[in-house]
Amino acid sequence: MKVLFSTWKDKVVDNRGISESERASASNVKLPLEFRNGQKVSGFMGWAGFVLLDEKADVVEMAYHYTKALQKSSCGRCFPCRAGTKVMEDILARIVGGQGSQTDLDALADLCDSISQNSKCGIGQMGPVAVAHSLEHFGDDYQAYIEGTKKAPGHNYPYKMTAPCTSACPTGMDIPQYIEYIKDADFAGSLANIREASPMASTLGRACFHPCENNCRRDNVDRSLSICKLKRAAWDWEDQHAAQKPINPNKHTREEKVAVIGGGPSGLSCAYYLALQGFRPTVFEKLPLAGGASFTGIPQYRIPKEIQAREIAYLEDVGVEIKCGVEFGKDETFKSLREDGYKAFYLATGGDLSKNARVAGEKEGYEGFYGGIQILKEVVYKTMPNSPVKGNKLPKPKTVLVIGGGNTAMDCVRTFIRLGCKDVSIVYRRTEKELPADPHEIHEAKEEGVQFKFLLAPTKIVAKDGKVTGLECQKMELGEPDDSGRRRPKAIEGSEHVIECDMIIAAIGQDCDIGYLEEEPDIKKTSWNTIVTDDDTMQTDIPDIFAGGDVQTGPLTLVDSVGQAKRAAQSIGQHLRGEPVGISDEQIMEKVIKGIGAYDRAEIVAEPDGWDRKPMRTCGMDLQKTSFTEVELGYSQEEAMEEASRCMRCYIVGMACVPGDGK
Ligand SMILES: Cc1cc2nc3c(=O)[nH]c(=O)nc-3n(C[C@H](O)[C@H](O)[C@H](O)COP(=O)(O)OP(=O)(O)OC[C@H]3O[C@@H](n4cnc5c(N)ncnc54)[C@H](O)[C@@H]3O)c2cc1C
Repeated sequence: MKVLFSTWKDKVVDNRGISESERASASNVKLPLEFRNGQKVSGFMGWAGFVLLDEKADVVEMAYHYTKALQKSSCGRCFPCRAGTKVMEDILARIVGGQGSQTDLDALADLCDSISQNSKCGIGQMGPVAVAHSLEHFGDDYQAYIEGTKKAPGHNYPYKMTAPCTSACPTGMDIPQYIEYIKDADFAGSLANIREASPMASTLGRACFHPCENNCRRDNVDRSLSICKLKRAAWDWEDQHAAQKPINPNKHTREEKVAVIGGGPSGLSCAYYLALQGFRPTVFEKLPLAGGASFTGIPQYRIPKEIQAREIAYLEDVGVEIKCGVEFGKDETFKSLREDGYKAFYLATGGDLSKNARVAGEKEGYEGFYGGIQILKEVVYKTMPNSPVKGNKLPKPKTVLVIGGGNTAMDCVRTFIRLGCKDVSIVYRRTEKELPADPHEIHEAKEEGVQFKFLLAPTKIVAKDGKVTGLECQKMELGEPDDSGRRRPKAIEGSEHVIECDMIIAAIGQDCDIGYLEEEPDIKKTSWNTIVTDDDTMQTDIPDIFAGGDVQTGPLTLVDSVGQAKRAAQSIGQHLRGEPVGISDEQIMEKVIKGIGAYDRAEIVAEPDGWDRKPMRTCGMDLQKTSFTEVELGYSQEEAMEEASRCMRCYIVGMACVPGDGK
């Protein structure tokens, strides 16, 4: 992007005195040109330098406000950062107020250097760098302030403290903070901190795909922190110690009722955040138990169902009502619930229909042919303790073929290994390299004895007397990359052959059932049958109806669906209180920082290496292959504390310069 000046990541681009059209670009940083409602962004100061987009930005005033932000963000645990940034702030206040001196400038330069060298976390280590750059490159501006020939313009400076891991988390969880609590053996403090961002520490701590760990700076030293499993450690501690759970001081302090449709992670989380604001949320769930795909999809060996039930019970304690066995669109409607006094809706019905596999015969109703979502749900209900669903025995196939290469497919094959089936295979159109499932899941499936049949496309279900007997497949070869960047499989003519089997599971994705929207035809839908909302507020075109989770994004992840729920609950709260529905300056800054990229894989981090992450104990392969026992046993308190000690607390502060006149 074209800049007036930039020092981002030590790359200096100086276009001062050069006309706008001839300015060179700063290729290593990308900023939005607008903040909100046409307000222009004139500059940015952050952990790796600063950028000026136009002449309106005033570097000295920016440095002052940035230092103020650093001081406010400092946790205060280490002296250089706590006291040092305060002294810096006082000096810069003098300079900006026209009372500075040359001695102040010298002291400021020394402070930047010593705070960076001696602080224990990112705020102190990285924060003063930008101020040091400003002194180095804009000495004349500082002199002009000291001589009284320049005055502070009084711009706005919204800022956000975050960390690379936090920036990658859709819930914006303060990860270094909950890890710090664990390091200090304060597991309750850690869980309280996690619950500010998500009520599902156990579910996320067991099955989140942890985008945070892909942004962990510790990976630049030795290996990323086990962020996900530390969340579980905090929840397990409360669960195992029968500790007093925090109460909700705002429980039902307001009269407004909100209908949350769908009791999956997104619906439950939204209801939780609404309850914390004092509202009265009721979750309407069509199945006999709440939990959504995390309950009926993710198998027990990854999340034990009795543990999940205890996690959900806590939501009821804080003020969430859960009504199961109520299908929206049939048992209740927008009209009936509005008549019953509900003032807003959150639609979170996920995607619980198995996608068609486009294989001949799949609609014939053959015995032995299942959708992945359907069979996983059946297995969960029939193998969990105290199941509310009674009925037929589970099928006992000899040979199972699972079509697909994603996480649902891995859950299906690993489930049938546990049900005693000796011959379980994945059938996938591409090669191992293109498998979309989580690498850990693929590894575990292989260890448990699952076979992988690559470069095979199923074409027809073969059946006899209404029962599956085989799957006809065609061999494939890989051609040019498609839009997703993966090489497109091409069929090899004449290569059709039948693989014998007595069960076929189609696990190639999910579709959403949003038939209930017929009642509200003004709500927009995509061609994939997902609901269209504003991406920031999750509000649909009907002001009292909001939507989020898989039914808005299409099948995605637990943590995405929780993140959307959090934003929706904020918007629903604003709507019910009669406030404008929108996101805060801090949330805009969160997006700005995400756009710049809080994590740099190429950064050389000066930390001693060789402190690898604590391995997780498991139940052992014998139990793993023969039972639904939870595979991962979690960290002991000591292990969790040791793992937490690897955190480098990479907090950063990013601040935009938004000129006060709004132009
Ligand atoms: C097998 C499987 C494994 C997965 N593994 C992982 C994993 O390891 N990690 C990860 O991050 N993500 C995983 N996911 C994805 C994750 O589970 C979803 O992204 C997440 O559950 C979406 O949450 P949601 O609340 O939006 O929807 P869902 O979890 O689908 O919940 C929607 C709920 O709404 C209910 N409902 C639907 N229609 C109605 C109606 N008309 N009336 C009332 N209730 C209704 C449904 O019964 C369901 O309980 C997995 C998904 C599946 C299917």
